[in-house]
Amino acid sequence: MCIFCSIAKKEINSHLVYEDDTVLAFLDINPTAVGHTLVIPKEHYESFLECPAKLRDHLFEVAQMLAKKLEESLNCDGLNILSNVHEAAGQSVNHFHVHLIPRYKGDTEIIHFHETENVDFEALKEKLK
Ligand code: AMP
Ligand code: ZN
Repeated sequence: MCIFCSIAKKEINSHLVYEDDTVLAFLDINPTAVGHTLVIPKEHYESFLECPAKLRDHLFEVAQMLAKKLEESLNCDGLNILSNVHEAAGQSVNHFHVHLIPRYKGDTEIIHFHETENVDFEALKEKLK
């Protein structure tokens, strides 16, 4: 059984911070920063890629509202908002979720963007068009 489905069905406890008919938000049990929050659809979708458009849009509306609330209430200096897709990207729970991670000046980067050598930008652009 999927752990986030169990949370959505209230079969296991979580620190809920938001709930409506289709979306739930709760505090991450192993927070990267104080206030680290997860926003999930109540219905099971493996990742961001599978979530239907209407639900996805509503979930991001809730995520934006909660991000503003975190910034106001915790006085953080910024937030990382991200969703890992598949194991290679670090997804460990296969139920779509968006991380809201408050950030404070001086924190280390969560994702460090660095140079990748020998990129064929022209070929890539053709593939992605
Ligand atoms: P990801 O690695 O992107 O799949 O993120 C999964 C997140 O779920 C991790 O940050 C975990 O700490 C968090 N997590 C796992 N189980 C629970 C739980 N029972 N309650 C709250 N957060 C959880
Ligand atoms: Zn699930």
